[in-house]
Amino acid sequence: MNLIQHFINGKVVGGSSRKTSKVFNPATGEQSSEVNLASKADVDLAVQKAKEAFTDWCRKPPAQRARIIFKFKELIEKNSDDITKLIVSEHGKIYEDARGSLIRGLEVVEFACGIPHLLKGEFTENVGTDVDSWSVRQPLGVCAGITPFNFPAMVPMWMFPIAMACGNTFVLKPSEKDPSCSIKLAQLFKEAGLPDGVFNVINGDKEAVDALLTNKDISAISFVGSTPIAKYIYENAAKNEKRVQALGGAKNHCVVMPDCDLEQAVNGLMGAAYGSAGERCMAQSVAVAVGKIGDSLVNKLAKKVESLKIGPGLDKNSEMGPLVTKEHLEKVKSYVDLGVQEGAKLVVDGRNTKPHGYEKGFYIGGCLFDNVEKKMRIYKEEIFGPVLSIVRVKDFESALDLVNEHEFGNGTSIYTRDGDVGRTFANKIKIGMVGINIPIPVPVAYHSFGGWKRSLFGDQHMHGPEGIRFYTKLKTITSKWPSGLRSNPEFVMPTMK
Ligand code: NAD
Repeated sequence: MNLIQHFINGKVVGGSSRKTSKVFNPATGEQSSEVNLASKADVDLAVQKAKEAFTDWCRKPPAQRARIIFKFKELIEKNSDDITKLIVSEHGKIYEDARGSLIRGLEVVEFACGIPHLLKGEFTENVGTDVDSWSVRQPLGVCAGITPFNFPAMVPMWMFPIAMACGNTFVLKPSEKDPSCSIKLAQLFKEAGLPDGVFNVINGDKEAVDALLTNKDISAISFVGSTPIAKYIYENAAKNEKRVQALGGAKNHCVVMPDCDLEQAVNGLMGAAYGSAGERCMAQSVAVAVGKIGDSLVNKLAKKVESLKIGPGLDKNSEMGPLVTKEHLEKVKSYVDLGVQEGAKLVVDGRNTKPHGYEKGFYIGGCLFDNVEKKMRIYKEEIFGPVLSIVRVKDFESALDLVNEHEFGNGTSIYTRDGDVGRTFANKIKIGMVGINIPIPVPVAYHSFGGWKRSLFGDQHMHGPEGIRFYTKLKTITSKWPSGLRSNPEFVMPTMK
């Protein structure tokens, strides 16, 4: 059985714990590997090595750090097929989608290559007579990332390239469901010339996470995952005096206006609801049909959902792969059962889908519910599977209220041809990322990613300018040289007279 270990101080190591967890190939349902789960001692060792590496790494000129990151970028490009196959083999999503997610991560690496420019501070000459003032951003120390299963390459890559470009060292704790990708990325970074200890990967479960949260040598924690765990991370990281950003779950609404290009909206929704089998934090899981568009929207969607091609991620014909684990499949199916019990109309039922030859894989077909209501649990809770709920509302204002009243605030979009409606929506909606005729408005690497409400605990979004701010602290220096204007002792606040 393949054993997935940790990556500490430039080496793959087994760690001291005997605890392991199973990793599956979701396409076949077979176990593919065993992953070591770190003990507190393993985590502490990784943090210690990262702390030692920080001393030299933070002193390296940003341009030298950028050169290593640039080499890492080249190695990812060279190895993109292998990394993509690793994602498919442990997550299950289709090859081209996995490749796309790797490229979105790579774009953050490209952004981080510009670190000499991004770390430039601000300077003011003569804030007082012969007095100058400037500000610089300095690294924090050892930073940690805790990431979810659904983007085993992209989400970690939202974090560590920027953290390390800023001069920090990093300990990553990826999801134990698909851990191989992170180890591969660490090996490529070493090949790119990264000094040992700057980037470490610890595989593990709650025990490893708790060890990170309580380790006094960790300055900042970045988390992406479900809302209950995000809240736990936020509270405990703060309690242990760490900087923290904790991104949580979502229930993204797509508002479909009666004046929209329906074909465009339906195609957008198909990709956004069923792409990656709905296991995306930016998946559209609710379509809000406004006014008379409801019937035609449901009819057009139903035909396309019924004809979705479901199969293994490496089969070029597949449009949707399996879910990540058997437990997750059972959970998603139980939500579909619940929707039926709650009185929603199940227009397309994918519960019995079993691709030929892959009967043991973790598959479910696309599911479509109509007449979903606000009080239903299938509306309120994140299902994280290929289940789209249609809620019908009478007008634009009702759609706006519906989206704003939901506890999550990650992403949303609107389909309309009316610029006025689009602008009002963007202005009034209480959501972090908004699309106008764009189904999944994920910001590019040089903007920042993050939600509102219970989709993000903390102040800073991820990557882009917010990433630079999160991974650095500001220092402002005010100076005067002895040759400047002499002054007598002053006992009052100096002001500009
Ligand atoms: P999860 O919350 O179960 O796990 C995330 C991480 O936390 C993993 O590394 C896991 O090992 C760890 N963890 C799990 N339980 C823990 C516990 N009790 N104590 C400490 N650590 C624990 O999430 P998941 O199932 O891996 O991923 C899916 C979730 O992530 C969805 O809710 C999805 O919306 C969310 N997500 C959000 C974003 C975003 O940007 N907001 C992006 C991707 C995924």
